[in-house]
Amino acid sequence: MPLKSLTINGFKSFPDKVTLEFPKGITGIVGPNGSGKSNITEAMRWVMGETNVRHLRGENTTDVIFGGTAMKAPLNRAEVTVSFDNQAKQLNSDFKEIEITRTIFRNGDTNYQINQQNVRLKDIHDLFMDSGLSKESFSIISQGSVEQIFNAKPADRRSVIEEAAGVLKFKQQKKTAELKLKQTQDNLVRINDFVKELE
Ligand code: ATP
Repeated sequence: MPLKSLTINGFKSFPDKVTLEFPKGITGIVGPNGSGKSNITEAMRWVMGETNVRHLRGENTTDVIFGGTAMKAPLNRAEVTVSFDNQAKQLNSDFKEIEITRTIFRNGDTNYQINQQNVRLKDIHDLFMDSGLSKESFSIISQGSVEQIFNAKPADRRSVIEEAAGVLKFKQQKKTAELKLKQTQDNLVRINDFVKELE
């Protein structure tokens, strides 16, 4: 699915708003060590719903906010927006262009938007599920991930194949249905207890 642009504002080593455009073809990002190349891929991961701070080389959720340098004061907010061309309907949405924005504030408050509408994190995950772009997928391969896949437990490696095969969505739906079933069974037991008490 064509990636159109990525706008980073206050995320990690990007205190000022920067927009990267991705024209047709392959885009290469080059720069000296420590110049922020990996931070760009992490911004992508983050806006697409990554919540595991270790996958973002951090310890706290707010570590992604620009922490300041000798020349620049720390910021209180980070925001990343990614835009996809969805004309081929590869993402499950009627919009021809999909823009996702994630914002985090120093106090930990987070906000997600799809095309300027506030949404839940679950909506972002659902949008990408089985698209090959979900956070479990390997569309973004960070340094060390290849080794990680080779060394992964079979069950973890299986989830990569499941995502690619498109069954992950059904597994999630099954899990949600099983949870609801369990809650309903618990409620039934409670109702039966009430009925017995009343008899
Ligand atoms: P390499 O080529 O060595 O892999 P790189 O170009 O991928 O490097 P990154 O790892 O993306 O570089 O960037 C590292 C830089 O980002 C470091 O200078 C680090 O101090 C800075 N950095 C990371 N998090 C923050 C933050 N929250 N605030 C400010 N700077 C940050």
